[in-house]
Amino acid sequence: MSHISVFDMFKIGIGPSSSHTLGPWKATQRWFVELQEKQKLHQIKSIKVYLYGSLSLTGKGHGTDMAIALALLGELPEEIDVNNIGNIIMQLKKEKKINFAGNIIEFDIEKDIVFLEDFLPFHSNGLRFVATLQNEEQIESIFYSIGGGFVIKEEDSSQNSQCDNEEKIPYQVHSATDLLNHCAAESFQIWELSKANELYKYNEDEISKMLLNIWRIMEESIYLGCHTEGFLPGGLNVKRRAFDLNKDLLFGSKYHSQSEWRDCIAKQDPDNREIFLWVSLFALAVNEVNAALGRIITSPTNGSSGVIPAVLMYYLFFIKKEYCQETIKKFLLTAGIVGSLFKRNATISAAAGGCQAEIGVSSSMAAAALAEALGGSPAHCIMAAEIAMEHHLGLTCDPVGGLVQIPCIERNSMGAIKAILAAELALKTDPSNAIISFDNVVKTMLETANDMNSKYKETSQGGLALRVSVNCTNC
Ligand code: SF4
Repeated sequence: MSHISVFDMFKIGIGPSSSHTLGPWKATQRWFVELQEKQKLHQIKSIKVYLYGSLSLTGKGHGTDMAIALALLGELPEEIDVNNIGNIIMQLKKEKKINFAGNIIEFDIEKDIVFLEDFLPFHSNGLRFVATLQNEEQIESIFYSIGGGFVIKEEDSSQNSQCDNEEKIPYQVHSATDLLNHCAAESFQIWELSKANELYKYNEDEISKMLLNIWRIMEESIYLGCHTEGFLPGGLNVKRRAFDLNKDLLFGSKYHSQSEWRDCIAKQDPDNREIFLWVSLFALAVNEVNAALGRIITSPTNGSSGVIPAVLMYYLFFIKKEYCQETIKKFLLTAGIVGSLFKRNATISAAAGGCQAEIGVSSSMAAAALAEALGGSPAHCIMAAEIAMEHHLGLTCDPVGGLVQIPCIERNSMGAIKAILAAELALKTDPSNAIISFDNVVKTMLETANDMNSKYKETSQGGLALRVSVNCTNC
């Protein structure tokens, strides 16, 4: 398999789901480019998009049809005005037309995106695009959304990657063992190794800017979640909690500017009980933004996008007590490379592995980065990552109503708290005494994923999803 960059793990995404929203969006963009390269765009008479498996079963709650429509309209997830998405979709539903590079074709989002419950063989998130040309010829492509916004075409599915060529990478990292060996040989911390591998493609300045942009979006999503009242969309009537919790923790104050709010948090000196609430607040805020179709960073997925920002905020404001850009960059570099080990050797797709593949992975990434920030050796960091994943093994994915709200939002708080504890435990332990290695936990996670009943893999056909009936307004 090819190299997986930190910037593959952290992508700019629109909520609520990286596999069901961002992935289909990117698949549609790739299909459009394919048609463009074949010079077929002007010959198209009509198009149909067929969704399979988990994409079909929970696609409406996850906004899969909306993401495909936005991509067909030429919108980019990195740039779209998220406050205007509703209007764009409403307009499309009214006009039932899309402009395919000057070729205006009929497109009815309710009829031309078809939800089929059968599964395609390679992965449960399958999309089949069919374009009918003026001469009735049909062109067809199948893509899979394989988690974290990664997309793969049917023909490439045996390689399981869309990433760059591995020969150029200075340090091959196929496992935690490789990572620790390189760190030992070069006297690197993990963030240094991670950066050295990014330098194959980007220069120092680019890496710095991209990492700080990732953090900017993460922090904005926390801020926005803390300053938005009301109920989440989708029909479950989930009341947003971050707004009230932020207000309570700031003694009733409502801070409207982001810098004022940041200054105010920096003045806090929370006691032991409040620390839990602060960490939870940061995680809840991000995932409420995600659930409301806002902009977040996949970390490594949309559903788990709150864990890493929450742990990093906790470290910056309550441990280091300094808003330090270097710390932010190192944290993300370490978290990213640890996440890539799960992507490479197991899965970050809930449709393939349940919630252990989302919240478990994000918690593990955050634990490693926090252990390093707290002064741990590479071995301590990997032990922290191992502990965090070990206690998420088997966690199922059963979102109520196919929405990324219950249990997803709170689950980010739990993943963040576990990451903090895992880092602290690892730092108090001699890693040479570890009986279970990180690499063995990753193998176990994959085996558990393979053994898991498909009811618990983002299908909303089991678990908590059966306990509540929902009038899903996205559905
Ligand atoms: S239960 Fe976990 S894996 Fe499933 S949608 Fe929610 S956060 Fe994602």
